[in-house]
Amino acid sequence: MYQAAENRYDSMEYMRSGRSGVLLPRISLGLWQNFGLEKSLEEQEAVLFRAFDMGITHFDLANNYGFPAVGSAEENFGSALRDGLGRYRDELFISTKAGFDFWPGPYGNWGSRKYLMASLDSSLKRMGLEYVDVFYHHRPDPETPLEETMGALSDIVRQGKALYVGISNYQAEEAEAAIRILRENKTPCLLHQPRYNMFERWAEDGLLELLDREGVGCICYSPLAQGALTGRYLDGIPEGSRASKKGSTIGGRYLTEDKLVKIRALDRVAGERGQSLARMALAWVLRRKEVTSVLIGASSIAQLEDNVKALDNLAFSREELAEIEGILKG
Ligand code: NDP
Repeated sequence: MYQAAENRYDSMEYMRSGRSGVLLPRISLGLWQNFGLEKSLEEQEAVLFRAFDMGITHFDLANNYGFPAVGSAEENFGSALRDGLGRYRDELFISTKAGFDFWPGPYGNWGSRKYLMASLDSSLKRMGLEYVDVFYHHRPDPETPLEETMGALSDIVRQGKALYVGISNYQAEEAEAAIRILRENKTPCLLHQPRYNMFERWAEDGLLELLDREGVGCICYSPLAQGALTGRYLDGIPEGSRASKKGSTIGGRYLTEDKLVKIRALDRVAGERGQSLARMALAWVLRRKEVTSVLIGASSIAQLEDNVKALDNLAFSREELAEIEGILKG
């Protein structure tokens, strides 16, 4: 049975999520990849337990997480809870989502009330939980009225199955409408979860400003561009890495020749700051005052520990930021 480290709150930093009562660790852990069937349960639990021992209280899931079997991440997280992590339920902040294709037929995808209600019930069963801390709509649905989707989120809160609600992958305009409806429903939006890293900056086109103005927290996913913004691919594609796996989107998206030139130049800047590239990439996302937390993935304890050390040096000089901009634009 896992027993948490007594000093688990000694070094992690926490930040308030928008205008809410919730504090989130600056670094949160997601279970999209690395928590499916490719690794033993013991290895997965070792990473989850180490994360909590370092003060990472927030774990992010979704109905479809777990490779190659969707849903397996929630099942494995449920095992970790039963193997001791669950003793600390009141110290944990657990999220799940629905919005992508999950079961066959017309009711297992997008944003209907029918889908969201049923999906959360099945997520709770897989994890063995009575409630999650936050339930997200995973992506906007162009066909379903926003009032229906947001109404389902609000009712889920009223049923006690989620304490808060959030949205993910909504562009600024869509997010603004969703935030307004949730506020009218008296279940304010706690968090928005956009993809944001040095290579993907659409969140800067109005979304971050909107979240700040509306008092909604922001938790950025894939801050390391799925591992591209680390030392992982500086000498090719290592066996077992995410890019080496079938169906991976990293190669085409982030490991093109022009991006690799940038990654090497960024690695040099990180070295001058006395940081690994991974730590600098995380600090760069956290430099924005609107960002509550970065949502990382980790396939080992060593990666997790490297990433948490990002908090030792979050400050950038004006010259360093300009140099990074120059490399990214180059
Ligand atoms: P990251 O950008 O943090 O990429 C994680 C990967 O980077 C790891 O699996 C590992 O790759 C590599 N890595 C991490 N740390 C290091 C390090 N220090 N040195 C070298 N390599 C490192 O995030 P993800 O893309 O995994 O996304 C994180 C979370 O965000 C997900 O688990 C999920 O919770 C959430 N998410 C949400 C989405 C949404 O639509 N809302 C979509 C995608 C993610 P390797 O496995 O090769 O070792």
